[in-house]
Order: sequence, then C-alpha cells, then structure tokens
Amino acid sequence: MSDPDHTAVYAAELAAFDGTDLEAVRAFEFIAGVLRLVVDGPWWPGGVVSVERSRADASASVTRCTVDSDGERAAIRLSQPQMTVATAAHELAHALAGSGRGHDAVYRRAYLDLIRVITNLDTTDRRHDIHVSQLAEAFAAAGLKVGEREWPAPPDAIGSAIAL
Ligand SMILES: [Zn+2]
Repeated sequence: MSDPDHTAVYAAELAAFDGTDLEAVRAFEFIAGVLRLVVDGPWWPGGVVSVERSRADASASVTRCTVDSDGERAAIRLSQPQMTVATAAHELAHALAGSGRGHDAVYRRAYLDLIRVITNLDTTDRRHDIHVSQLAEAFAAAGLKVGEREWPAPPDAIGSAIAL
C-alpha cells in the first residue's frame, strides 16, 4: 500500500512528543491497561481490539496494528523499545481510522482524538489540550492536513465527571 504520509507523521510525532512522558518506555501491562481503558470505555466507536507484545526475536519486534477489511477487529502488537503512550495512541488510531487509510488526514484526526482521550484518562493528571495541541501544531508545521472525523467526537475526559 502506498502511504506517502508515513514518514511525515512519524517525524511530526517525534517533534510533538520528544522530551515528554508520552515517549517514555513503560511496562507492557501499563500500555495494555491504557488501551483497554479506552476500548472498554464509553466513547470507543471502533471494533474489537486485541493487544499483544511482539515476540522478542528481532524479526517480530515490530509495532503494528492490523485491521481487518470491515474494521471490526484490530490486533495491536507492541515491541518493547516502542512501549510508549505515544505509540499506543498511534496504533489505536489505526484501529479507529480503518485499514485503508494509512496515515492520511482522517487517520491524523483519529490520532489527535486518541491523544486527547488517553492523556485525560488519569483523573489525577489530566493533560487537557496540552498534547493534542503539540501534535496538531507539529502536523500543521509539516503541512499535514487533518480531516473530518467519521466517528463521534471524544468527550473532554472519560471517567468520572468533574462537577464545577
Ligand atoms: Zn502507523
């Protein structure tokens, strides 16, 4: 599949999140738990998602998300060097955007939505728009347009509501 935006999206991701804890390598259990909270949560508009760690041998130690053609099932494989929140959001965005999208403008909308949801899961450490803005600015700086979403907008935060 031709995916000319692949390299540009990875570069934007690095520009956006380098030096933040979204690029910190975590335990598999932590990352899998984050993904499960999103997929089992009230907003998730995608299909069934399974999360595994890549086998340790070099040929399999690649992070990827495989989405079936009807978008009902996705399998995310995470390699240990890429066990980060940023990668988790990147891969889950593939499950949301669908298999044919590559890293196109609609995919990039999905990625922004996943960053919003994931960085606001922790009720004691909500990041609000901080990381969404970082990524949106990096996309804009690289000339990468962001498309319209084809799913419901995520809430400001998932979890218990904060009464003001
Ligand atoms: Zn990707």
